[in-house]
Amino acid sequence: MSKVKLNIRLGNTVEELRQDILDHIFFTLGRTEKIATLHDWYLAVAYTVRDKMMEKWVRSLDKLYDKKIKIIGYLSAEFLVGPHLGNAMINLNIQNEVKAATAQLGQDLNQLMEQEEEPGLGNGGLGRLAACFIDSLSTLHVPAIGYGVRYEFGIFDQRIKDGWQVEETDKWLKSGNPWEIVHPEISYHVKFGGHTNCYKDKEDMYRVEWTAEYEVKGVAYDTPIPGYKNTTINILRLWKSEAVESFDFNAFNKGDYYNAVSEKVVSENISKILYPNDEPAGGKRLRLSQQYFFVSCSLQDALRLCRLRGFSINKFHESFNMQLNDTHPAIAVAELMRLLVDEHSLDWDEAWEITKKTFSYTNHTLLPEALEKWSLQLLSSLLPRHLEIIYEINGRFLADVRNKFPGNDQRISNLSIIDETGERYIRMAHLACIGSHAINGVSILHTSLLKQSVLRDFYILEPEKFYNITNGVTPRRWLKLYNPELSNLITKHIGDRWISHLETELIQLEKFADDKDFQQKWRRIKLQNKKDLARLIGYRTGVEVKAGSVFDIQVKRIHEYKRQLLNLLHIIHLYNRLKKNPAEKITSRTFIFGGKAAPGYFMAKLIIKLINAVADKINYDPDVGDQIRVVFFPDFNVKNSEYIYRAADISEQISTAGMEASGTGNMKFSLNGALTIGTLDGANVEILEAVGKENFFLFGLIAEEVFSIKQQGYKPYDIYTSNPDLKEVIDMIGSGIFSNGDRNLFKPIMDALLHYDTYMVMQDYQAYIDCQKKVSEAYKDQNHWQKMSILNVARMGNFSSDRSISEYCTKIWGVSPKR
Ligand SMILES: *Cc1c(COP(=O)(O)O)cnc(C)c1O
Repeated sequence: MSKVKLNIRLGNTVEELRQDILDHIFFTLGRTEKIATLHDWYLAVAYTVRDKMMEKWVRSLDKLYDKKIKIIGYLSAEFLVGPHLGNAMINLNIQNEVKAATAQLGQDLNQLMEQEEEPGLGNGGLGRLAACFIDSLSTLHVPAIGYGVRYEFGIFDQRIKDGWQVEETDKWLKSGNPWEIVHPEISYHVKFGGHTNCYKDKEDMYRVEWTAEYEVKGVAYDTPIPGYKNTTINILRLWKSEAVESFDFNAFNKGDYYNAVSEKVVSENISKILYPNDEPAGGKRLRLSQQYFFVSCSLQDALRLCRLRGFSINKFHESFNMQLNDTHPAIAVAELMRLLVDEHSLDWDEAWEITKKTFSYTNHTLLPEALEKWSLQLLSSLLPRHLEIIYEINGRFLADVRNKFPGNDQRISNLSIIDETGERYIRMAHLACIGSHAINGVSILHTSLLKQSVLRDFYILEPEKFYNITNGVTPRRWLKLYNPELSNLITKHIGDRWISHLETELIQLEKFADDKDFQQKWRRIKLQNKKDLARLIGYRTGVEVKAGSVFDIQVKRIHEYKRQLLNLLHIIHLYNRLKKNPAEKITSRTFIFGGKAAPGYFMAKLIIKLINAVADKINYDPDVGDQIRVVFFPDFNVKNSEYIYRAADISEQISTAGMEASGTGNMKFSLNGALTIGTLDGANVEILEAVGKENFFLFGLIAEEVFSIKQQGYKPYDIYTSNPDLKEVIDMIGSGIFSNGDRNLFKPIMDALLHYDTYMVMQDYQAYIDCQKKVSEAYKDQNHWQKMSILNVARMGNFSSDRSISEYCTKIWGVSPKR
């Protein structure tokens, strides 16, 4: 027995943990062991694990007051962190002790972990990147605060009914959230609407005063983010909107009690719900309100910390670097100017220098429909002072440009923050570029296309501001936690330093690539992971799948550019072959799809229906036997993904070249031993380079070809008429055989493919079919397949988010990461 500490809540021994859990059952939850539910036990364990962070957390907070340190503020509208418990136990290195303690209490830790509701505060890749980044920031001892919104409802839960997606609200807070600590004393007022007027102050200085129409209050909810086996615990600080007290008091005094309450309801709306991606534009006043709300709270908070740390306000940029995760927080540029000039009385030029040195901007997309812009009218009604500030920024900026390039009006209109080509809009990417000292893309290809296309004129103007920082994923969650058996095998052979030094350590696996015994073990683990997923699929969908088949998986948001349709055309092609020749033996495959479609994205929802329709036909056709299974795994999210990435033989990364900025799913799959079938898009390019082309199934057009074919006039219908196999596949969709004879149901998909095919599915079809043939051939040589799989993992070291964050530190933020 080890010594019992004075305060058992700080101790990490099994006895102390067990006692702490029991204390929480009794003192925190007001239960006894006898009547505690499974969820009570989960909560007690969660509080216990949180207790073990408190000492380090308080010390880390102290460090925020150290003047020598620059704090990274990571501004992001989304943080898709996933369940906390498993990750926290790994990073605190107490999973064995907690397991033993819960076992002594008659509880199964895995079952308790299942109880945790994931905070679905993001749509997909971008939100998940933010989560990997704060994990890495903590692991690399970089003091940081992740600033975002505490949405009451995160991304919707997806159910499948009759093959269609049905959305359900994500009530993630309904049973409480043991990971957050609310700080009512950390709160800020945020103004909206109204008007501005000018006046001269006592020193005869020209000033602007903003009289708001209404105000809300943002309250800080903090979640600790522990580093891996170290002493740093950073904060995820999410803002919840509430009514400002004065509203209630005023109305109360007037005797208008019910109006006071409805005022409260309106204020709370701002942080009510996360907006899904890819929705048609329009009616998004609340979305802009959310963006401004969290940005304003975060900047006011940073300014308060700056003063508390003893920095004067004109050294704000030495106290903080604020990273803009896409343009969602880009209004921060105008807001910091407002705070510095209007509230802190700095002069414009000084404020502008501070602002530029404070911000840096990460671009995440080239898709024109995803580039944020706000109508002038909306901005002027919601944020009148910011519109004035944006005009001033733009005017001064364009004057500089005119000096540099006299007489070039086209360049001026290309660079202007204001898009004047139709109804006038504010282009948020332009505001972000102009107000930042650094701009980065998220993969080599993406950065290079950025410089050539959407940000071309900014690149010509200030090339030194551009960087590439390829995305990464945290090996703690994506390998250690979510693939424990493979992790153990790796650790047995190369030690456990890979968990925090993936870049240098993982490569040592290479020397086992040809080792038959190691290959056997490698294969057995994959097989077990596939069996686990097969069981879950049976439970969730009723479809029986064989772990012996090739698990060919495409999980990601449903979007036309990601080309789930191309995958589906290949499946129908295989089906055709079997129908024509039932005696033919193909390499058995299980095709697994997963992903949410934006509720307003009609085509994406129809694609889900088509996947399910094809699945229903093929899975029950006796001519197919058990050679093909097609599954749509409902509600793909971080929690479910634990079972999915590790079970893949094949990772589908088949977006139209030039469309996917980076992708991170591609990295998770490869890190877990899947081989990629993919296009030269996003980070696939770098994955291919890293793992070697002999260990990657490459196909399809390259980005330049996509652009040039489009320019020449792309005619998908000609491909349809000239490729009989493709024609047959497409005609089947139109024939109604997947829709009980209904020829209209999938007509929008047919029309899009035959007449527009914006994402060149038809053009890449044959190359994809041919490449899939190679996959099937390759799988027959299992020794070679295992070798390729091992080499994929061994060579993924560079795709750790620790590497990404180290690059941000040295290239952009001017801080030093520590191992
Ligand atoms: C990694 C991840 C994504 C991003 O996947 P891509 O394949 O890069 O689009 C989306 N959603 C979840 C839940 C993820 O974990």
